[in-house]
Amino acid sequence: MRSTGKLHLGNYVGALENWVRMQDQYDCFFFIADWHALTTDYADPSRLKENSVDVLLDWLAAGLDPAKCVMFIQSHVPAHAELHLLLSMITPLGWLERVPTYKEQKENIKGKDLDTYGFLGYPVLQSADILIYRANSVPVGEDQVAHVELTREIARRFNQFYPIKVESEELTPAQRAWCTARYGEVLLNTVYVVDPVFPEPQALLTPAARLPGTDGRKMSKSYGNAIMLTDPEPVVRQKLKTMVTDPARIRRSDKGNPDVCPVGDLHKIFSSKETMAKVYEGCRSAGIGCIECKSWAADALVQILNPMQERRKKYEDNPRLAWDILEAGSARAREVADATMDEVRESMGLDYAPAKDSRK
Ligand code: SF4
Repeated sequence: MRSTGKLHLGNYVGALENWVRMQDQYDCFFFIADWHALTTDYADPSRLKENSVDVLLDWLAAGLDPAKCVMFIQSHVPAHAELHLLLSMITPLGWLERVPTYKEQKENIKGKDLDTYGFLGYPVLQSADILIYRANSVPVGEDQVAHVELTREIARRFNQFYPIKVESEELTPAQRAWCTARYGEVLLNTVYVVDPVFPEPQALLTPAARLPGTDGRKMSKSYGNAIMLTDPEPVVRQKLKTMVTDPARIRRSDKGNPDVCPVGDLHKIFSSKETMAKVYEGCRSAGIGCIECKSWAADALVQILNPMQERRKKYEDNPRLAWDILEAGSARAREVADATMDEVRESMGLDYAPAKDSRK
């Protein structure tokens, strides 16, 4: 997750909630992508550190647990940069220019010069981020599936160029018989197993729940329509009060439809079945007003946000605790990443590099 500062409900529903579940099922590595933030915000890195800490606090608030997963910060694991460099050598430019988000973001992000190598090459950095942990699965939303596909292509290309781990083992009698039948006399008594350095990771698609912001568009900090995980109860209630509703319900007596109302979308994600039933019945019959309906949605949000904010406070009051988690996670990530890099260098014939310690 890029270090863009405090997170909002859209980030929670679109990724974080799923991560919290995943930490019980997988061996997870989650990192704060501060280098990725630089690909678009290189001109002003002044808030990088503060934004990174805010992301971590929201992760901890949402329930990521350092005892169950590894949380770290990208720039504290320099091996990501080394692998990025090596992968950039083998990545054809055309592959990067075809990434759908490249053109899309260049058109949509205004006021920033994105004609940089860093911006074009950020999917290669992402590939390095994934491959360096030899990840089998990457939890992503629909818009990131193309990046995981690109990572697979880069891994495949790397594995073809630099096959590694040629292990030999004794031929079994069956293998010897097969080889003899096929090739005649067999002089060597070995079989070679070529083990690729990188597995090809799969995208684990996060089911995309539609989470609208207060103006009905997709929730986003840049639209100014977001409900933040740190918003206190009065702010949440105020934001809900101004939220747009079904445009057909102009007067209290007009009947509405929760399926075309952004508040209805919130209910579908956060409210209980009983509340949903009341919303459908009351909205369609004009039996309830939007103010009442919004207050029920606010109740559901507050119920989720309150425990998060309590957990966050513990770390806000003692930021050292949060930094300790990041440092321990970064040390663990370095161990795994360095082991991968040893194999990468060996496979590329670069294992004449100076001793490891000089690279830290
Ligand atoms: S009653 Fe609720 S679901 Fe229906 S239009 Fe109003 S806010 Fe939307």
